Amino acid sequence: MKREETFNFSAGPSVLPEEALERAGKEILNYNGSGMSVMEMSHRSAFFQEIFDETKAKLRAALSVPDTHDILFLQGGASAQFSMVPLNLMEGGTADYAVTGNFSNIAAKEAQKYGTVHIAASSRDDNFSYIPPQSALDLSPEAKYFHYCANNTIYGTAWSYVPETPAPLVCDMSSEILSRPVDVSKYGVIYAGAQKNMAPAGVTVVIIDRSLAGREAPYTPLIMSYKTMIEKDSMYNTPPCWCIYMLGLVLDWLKSQGGVRGMEAIKHEKAAVIYDVIDNSALYKPCARRDSRSDMNVTFRTGDPELDALFARDAQARGLMNLKGHRSVGGMRASLYNAQSMEGVKTLAAFMKEFEREHHV
Ligand SMILES: *Cc1c(COP(=O)(O)O)cnc(C)c1O
Repeated sequence: MKREETFNFSAGPSVLPEEALERAGKEILNYNGSGMSVMEMSHRSAFFQEIFDETKAKLRAALSVPDTHDILFLQGGASAQFSMVPLNLMEGGTADYAVTGNFSNIAAKEAQKYGTVHIAASSRDDNFSYIPPQSALDLSPEAKYFHYCANNTIYGTAWSYVPETPAPLVCDMSSEILSRPVDVSKYGVIYAGAQKNMAPAGVTVVIIDRSLAGREAPYTPLIMSYKTMIEKDSMYNTPPCWCIYMLGLVLDWLKSQGGVRGMEAIKHEKAAVIYDVIDNSALYKPCARRDSRSDMNVTFRTGDPELDALFARDAQARGLMNLKGHRSVGGMRASLYNAQSMEGVKTLAAFMKEFEREHHV
């Protein structure tokens, strides 16, 4: 299949802006007159240091990260942060966790190894189809931090509010970072694996309030210490150079599209096109409650697993790629990240209607 014939709805790794991929292609053998590919150069070289510093500066500008916070480019994915957060911030005490899906559940389990996890909220009672309201948060007064996942990639739910907690907020923003402005000053730590909405897999962005560093458990591996990584400017060891470079290219594209405000302006519109089809359909049922719907990952099902499978197969044959839902939820999932075009969204909506006409009796 030709790229022009496809729209990619993958939940991650996911579609990237074509402009960024094209530029990477042009520069792949010879970056900026260096005679080398970015993949081939020392991370200590002036060429790479410039890429690194500029990418960091672009990200700081894109998210208006205040001076109180450092930006780190780490490895191990968002999953490594499930351990790094408690190792560095729990101090053997208690931390509050909101469990609203698969990843926040894993994060809470991982933290249990290092202290006491208090489940401050959970939506497990209804298969993670909703986000608990502020009034339902059961906060422990001694919590070292409050951890939540802003957008639940698998279930297709998103927090529509920033929780108010006495403890610092720690947030997994993997599947929604750069899709809207964020008041970073409200957060102790924001982390995100890049492969959903930022760059290829391999770099994890961590934005951390510097005053929280230096509290790590004595047995914390050096590579898992925020303090080490802040002091070494993410270069305690070799950073994921290529992914950082790609992130820089994606941030250039983002800027040309009006930045995070530009993304926020269209993300709701894009999601509404698909939710509209679902809400006006006798075949498709949404997986998430209306007040908790995600704009990034739209989840739905027909109720018949065989028909769901046929949907994904037929869609793929038409170039609408990767619409099969996560194995733990089933059904379908359309991920509408920043690089997903309105044209792709409308093509999917038209296919959904056509599929319903053919298969709904
Ligand atoms: C994909 C995802 C993860 C896991 O990310 P890895 O980079 O694979 O470790 C964690 N949290 C959320 C919200 C995700 O979407």
